[in-house]
Amino acid sequence: MSDDTAPPRRSHGRVSVSLNRQPSDLMGGPPRVKGAWRARIITLFPGAFPGVLAESLTGKAMDLGLWALETIDLRPFGEGRHRNVDDTPAGGGAGMVLRADVVARALRVADEGTPGRARWPVVYLSPRGRPFDQATARRWAACDGITLLCGRFEGVDERVLQAFGVEEVSLGDFVLTGGEIAAQAMIDATVRLLPGVLGNAASTEDESHSHGLLEHPQYTRPAIWEGREIPPVLLSGNHAEIARWRRAEAERLTRERRPDLWARRDTE
Ligand code: SAH
Repeated sequence: MSDDTAPPRRSHGRVSVSLNRQPSDLMGGPPRVKGAWRARIITLFPGAFPGVLAESLTGKAMDLGLWALETIDLRPFGEGRHRNVDDTPAGGGAGMVLRADVVARALRVADEGTPGRARWPVVYLSPRGRPFDQATARRWAACDGITLLCGRFEGVDERVLQAFGVEEVSLGDFVLTGGEIAAQAMIDATVRLLPGVLGNAASTEDESHSHGLLEHPQYTRPAIWEGREIPPVLLSGNHAEIARWRRAEAERLTRERRPDLWARRDTE
């Protein structure tokens, strides 16, 4: 799945939209499934996309037109000859803050042709946000698409987040240097839930976090590896027994590793 060609870009006002990692053929680009789910990314680093999303199942699904990625380069919306996008924090302190007026211009372009927040969330990747989880991925996958705003430096002027009704979502309780890696992680988790993306390769029904439990342990051949056996029940052919064992193991692992998940499950 590797290819070293740059994603094609077409002009969309002052926005560079990368449609697909494949060179577009002259007959109108890659196949597009009508109404396919779309991720629009506002970023100072459009070259970071599609990144790992071009690989494996998400990359194949992109090639099939099951979803599409559009990057909106923040830089051209900047101020002055140097297209400045940031300035020093009001009240002082270290670092720089992305300007409200600059981000607003990009968000306005990102809003073009979208159906409204209920079917097209607009999200700022932020360590202050609500933690991303499988339920969020499911909700996003049921929408028409999403706009993701990648911050840099100290973040984004608060006023533009309020003015545009932007949700804040976090990848976890740590601080990244920018929103791009978080955006790719969240898009990956969402795209694999879209119809047709996984095919028969995997089920999203039984895996970790789909029922508030972690997944049971997995094994494959050889049956004995360096003296370690596969649990015999898995080789028994008794599907009811196997299902019982897997359920018990999923519960054990969840209790041991994630008491927080286990507690929430009990109260639901
Ligand atoms: N000063 C900010 C951190 C800025 S980090 C604070 O303390 O809250 C720079 C950018 O990286 C952020 O604007 C955000 O877009 C992104 N980022 C950092 N950590 C993140 C996380 N855990 N989840 C999602 N995005 C994150």
